[in-house]
Amino acid sequence: MSLHGEDDVMVGGGSGGVRCAAPGRRQGLMRIALIATLGLLAPLAAAQGMKPYDSPYYSVLTDVPPERAQEAVLRVTKMFEEYQRRTSGFAGRVTRKMVFELHSDYDRYLRHTEAPGTAGLYTGDRLYAAYRADTPIDTWHAVQHEGFHQFVDFAMGRNAIPIWANEGLAEYFGESIWSGDLFFSGAVPPRRLERVQKLIRENGFRSAVAMLNLSHAQWNAEMNVVNYDQAWSMVHFLAHGDGGKYADEFGRFLTQLRGAANWQPVWRANFGTDVEAFDKRWREYWLALKPDATVDVYTSATVATMTSFYGRAFASKQRFEDWGELLETAKRSELKVRAEDWLPPGLLKQALVDVNERGTWELVGSAARKKLVCTLDDGRRIEGEFQIRDERVKSVEVNIRPAKKQKKP
Ligand SMILES: [Zn+2]
Repeated sequence: MSLHGEDDVMVGGGSGGVRCAAPGRRQGLMRIALIATLGLLAPLAAAQGMKPYDSPYYSVLTDVPPERAQEAVLRVTKMFEEYQRRTSGFAGRVTRKMVFELHSDYDRYLRHTEAPGTAGLYTGDRLYAAYRADTPIDTWHAVQHEGFHQFVDFAMGRNAIPIWANEGLAEYFGESIWSGDLFFSGAVPPRRLERVQKLIRENGFRSAVAMLNLSHAQWNAEMNVVNYDQAWSMVHFLAHGDGGKYADEFGRFLTQLRGAANWQPVWRANFGTDVEAFDKRWREYWLALKPDATVDVYTSATVATMTSFYGRAFASKQRFEDWGELLETAKRSELKVRAEDWLPPGLLKQALVDVNERGTWELVGSAARKKLVCTLDDGRRIEGEFQIRDERVKSVEVNIRPAKKQKKP
């Protein structure tokens, strides 16, 4: 897997034939602990009243309203393409359509999954989620988390990567932000950072070596949010820690697990024998992170969403002199979007909230098609551009430019 999004690969496995359940983000340990007591669950009832929708990679079954269903189809399609891109060197391909059931409310979801305390579920076959109108972000986090398990299971086979890596990566992708045309991973929500730092300070995590050795059975028996936080923090550290210097090794580690009887020699070959040094560095890295450590990830996602909508308006022949004009038109919900290039209006609504929270925004350039630029407080410039083909947005690109050096007086 390329955690740089480049060319190295991941080979891996799945959730081991035991159902994986994403813990509800706002649910307490007590509710999550319930899952462990369920044991083998009754066979799932056939979904009733569910309408089928087609996507290139999924059969989507849902009872949500048509526009919401369209969003679900679009999201899982882009999500699949992102997972495929990030595992691009891997020989495995998903050759059959996967099934995704999205229920319109949590009670219906519970009736079908019988998995209280969960926000989403992958059963070793189907992906399940409930649409939460009050916290849609939790819905999509669960879909991205469980969708990753489903993807690796179908693409790579079961049990090929250790449970900490599978769950850590699922959380990593769960925290990814979909901007409409792109996914942005590596986000660290400030509240989750606070929780991780508290756990490290109060010695709430097990040792790194104990986590590396944790069995799937033990993971399921504990079903503890602390384990999810620890696995996620280790994966995030391997992907982004210390300027990303472990990312290549992490990619190789995951790749070389393929066909390996044990992960231990593969770990040693890539990270050496000193797991205690790894443990120490991983904790130090997290304790040093500031709440705004990933402001560039969040802002890049907002720039990308605004660029996606700007590009669609441009393709519909709308032109804007400056940022103010684009912003006011967006606020009035008057940005044009061709039907075949539709994006959920909720995405723009959220971006308009986020635009207010950080950075200075402008449309740059004298030509009709301009570049969207957000300058952060530290001077970094996040630039968004789009390409059009056949009057549709073909692609969106976001680049982060370093702060310009101040001229000496
Ligand atoms: Zn999981």
